[in-house]
Amino acid sequence: MYSKAMAHHDDKDNNDSIVNKIDSENSNSEKNDIASRDKSKSVDKNNQPVLHDGPLKEFTIVVDPGHGGSDPGTGGAITGVKEKDLNMRISNKLKTKLENLGADIKMTRDDSTNLGENEKLSLDDRITFINNQNPDLLISMHHNFSEQSDEVKGTQILCANKNSIEFANKLQEAFNNEFDNKLYYLMSGYTLLKDMEQPSVIVECGFLSNEEDEARLQTDEYQDQIVSVIVDTVEKFLKD
Ligand SMILES: [Zn+2]
Repeated sequence: MYSKAMAHHDDKDNNDSIVNKIDSENSNSEKNDIASRDKSKSVDKNNQPVLHDGPLKEFTIVVDPGHGGSDPGTGGAITGVKEKDLNMRISNKLKTKLENLGADIKMTRDDSTNLGENEKLSLDDRITFINNQNPDLLISMHHNFSEQSDEVKGTQILCANKNSIEFANKLQEAFNNEFDNKLYYLMSGYTLLKDMEQPSVIVECGFLSNEEDEARLQTDEYQDQIVSVIVDTVEKFLKD
């Protein structure tokens, strides 16, 4: 029923730069000392980040902030906020939290990879980058927009192959429990996901076509809540 809502995922990821690296407050982190050291450190491609000890120590996860550069993705119906910027903000939060649990996080775009600013990041580049990391999971962060209804809201998970269904289902259930939603995960034909061997999902954080979602998706509080659901589910899934 949200087929039109997914129109902005028609593989037009022709990014050439990422403008913002916004925010990295770790005020809720119980490992604030470690986190704050990390967030102040700009890691370039010759300087691998220091990995933390933690339950996810042996795992590599690719976090993909959807769109970017000249591809803004969708936008807020009221405020006009760009999806690519929200994707980046929440991906940075997700990266920090997962790193605090010891995971090795690779971002498809930010200033710590060679796929960042001033370089074209096509869908092919993204796929090549992801495959080169040989990750245990791929989490692509997006925001949705429904052309049919401004009523539909909440977080929805997309996956594209059978390797990803278990993870997608667990994530969707966790979000439904957290936010009292009744959404179902969707199978998608999205190129980025469909050939991945490892569990790979898109997290559609919410609907920028819905007034309530659009407002709360821009708050740190709600972003942190979404990130916590993902992190808890990832930890359970990978450690089971
Ligand atoms: Zn998107």
